[in-house]
Amino acid sequence: MPLRPILKYGAEVLHRPTAPVGEVTPEVEQLVQDMVETMYAAPGIGLAATQVGVGKRLFVADLSVGKAKGELIVFLDPAWVEREGMQLEEEGCLSVPGFEATVARPERVVLAGRDRTGQPQTIEASGLLARCFQHEMDHLDGTLFVDRLRGLQKDLILRRIRKLGRAGKW
Ligand SMILES: [Zn+2]
Repeated sequence: MPLRPILKYGAEVLHRPTAPVGEVTPEVEQLVQDMVETMYAAPGIGLAATQVGVGKRLFVADLSVGKAKGELIVFLDPAWVEREGMQLEEEGCLSVPGFEATVARPERVVLAGRDRTGQPQTIEASGLLARCFQHEMDHLDGTLFVDRLRGLQKDLILRRIRKLGRAGKW
């Protein structure tokens, strides 16, 4: 089953911290492959395991959405090494379709973890990739970009999501 349904804001697994991946089993390999295909089909530049209903600490990212070779990044059990600076840009999320907001993110990050084969990897990123890493790391902690908003902006989005929910459109 290559494509997996992407869960939306409100699904329980999206709002809980994840557990370590641990050993790279055939199930993990299949999950990674399915997540890559699901991300490309969406299309999106990043996808966390929680978004397909799996409470494990892994995400995939590809700023080219599959158009450029060598751009795909798979991170198992990632952890921050460094985060610095600040950028303010609009962002969205495949689990919050139809909504965008400006979110403060670090300008430069270093992230360490393992690749899809289980080998250690450390990646330095800035700009959009740093933003993407922070967005996906938030997912692994059970946080969505909406949770980082405040006041009216957050209330407005949540009200509209509830309204869509009541209408059976969420
Ligand atoms: Zn997201």
